[in-house]
Amino acid sequence: MNPIPHVFPEEMEFLRILWCDNANIIRAKAIYLQEGEDFPLKVGIGAGQQGVPVMHDGIIEESGLSPIGEIQLEADLSTFKELDYAPGHVQVMGYMIKDGKIWSCCPRGFLKKMIINLKKINLEVKSSFENEFYLLKNDSEQKKGPEILEETPFASTYSMNINHDFIRELVDSINNQGMRVEQYYPEAGPGQQEVTIKYDDALVSADNQISFRDTVKAVAHLHGIRSSFLPKIFSQKSGNGCHIHLSLWKSDENKTGDMDNEYGLSSQCKQFIAGILKHLPAIMAITTPTSNSYRRIKPKTWSGAFQCWGIDNREAAIRVISEEDGAVKHLEIKAVDASSNPYLALGAIIAAGMDGLKNSLELEKPLQEDPGNMTPSDLAKRKIKLLPNNLGDAIYHLENDKIILDALGKDLSKAYLAVKKAEWEFFKDLSLSEEVEILLDKF
Ligand code: GLU
Ligand code: MG
Repeated sequence: MNPIPHVFPEEMEFLRILWCDNANIIRAKAIYLQEGEDFPLKVGIGAGQQGVPVMHDGIIEESGLSPIGEIQLEADLSTFKELDYAPGHVQVMGYMIKDGKIWSCCPRGFLKKMIINLKKINLEVKSSFENEFYLLKNDSEQKKGPEILEETPFASTYSMNINHDFIRELVDSINNQGMRVEQYYPEAGPGQQEVTIKYDDALVSADNQISFRDTVKAVAHLHGIRSSFLPKIFSQKSGNGCHIHLSLWKSDENKTGDMDNEYGLSSQCKQFIAGILKHLPAIMAITTPTSNSYRRIKPKTWSGAFQCWGIDNREAAIRVISEEDGAVKHLEIKAVDASSNPYLALGAIIAAGMDGLKNSLELEKPLQEDPGNMTPSDLAKRKIKLLPNNLGDAIYHLENDKIILDALGKDLSKAYLAVKKAEWEFFKDLSLSEEVEILLDKF
């Protein structure tokens, strides 16, 4: 019999073991704790779970998975969190285990593998996810489209006052889970919020992203409001981005910048950025993985619609951020939203960056103007292209990107592509409102 691990509080009733699937749904199975009885730290789930798309609960045949086959979801106790919003429940992240090893289709296992690969060349990534989300009216009385909660502009103090109770409880709950809130402000859309969490090791930051999404939705629900991270809810209002902020480290030293080097970037970081830029059209099938994602990524919306980088340029897909003294400590990848599985997104970004390092890829000059104001011929002269403008296009790039497919591995890439292709087929002719109806509460 397993003793009850000492980290668990006495009043605990359920241990939730979480996973996030290829469709980016956060799921858990919860184990009921009986004093004095066997208490397993794992639970069985069907292997077919990694072949399920966002729109229905069935396995896509081409995923290579089927209703036959079982894997174990094993608790990673280092991720233990108490949940203020669900008294009696605690949560841990799970690894998918098969035959005693992390299963080839486990997203968290994929990120872990990428982190280990990077570590082999003596580098580490630290990261954080810059979440934006909308607060909306609750529609529990009848099924209808999303309704704006309030009409306030960017950084409005009035919005801060209206939403004070919700934000306060949200921040308390996040801090109590061991994450650290850094900043909060009302974003440009009406009722849109941005709350940022301090960067951490890549795996921890991806775990935090799962907990953050869950916490926002749960606390909003407790306040009688609805929340959504869906990338584009209203066609004429700001989208919800989830930019990934990232820095490169070597033995506890930030190696992103180098004041004595070109553009203030270390040679390794230049190559890492060149790798991400090269693979961006393909990894967008992972970082912006829903049909809805592409309604957000448009020129002049701060969402990074062009395959280029710039220093403090908020219209480039990669923004290198300079500090007050000109030093560079981190960069931001804008072609990401919270409909992406954070383990897959971060893992794919690391794989792309590592390709840049391995092949010493050259970084083009930074773009220091708004690409949305440039003529097609000026863009062509600078070799700058628009990024994919639909999921089908991004899937095509991913299918043809051997580096990223190899990094994902045969089983995970097959299952992932099958799920995404099925989703694209299902969603590609739907209108925004039809799409929103299906996806609003999923993300
Ligand atoms: N809402 C913008 C997006 O969709 C980002 C705004 C910003 O934080 O710069 O990416
Ligand atoms: Mg923002």
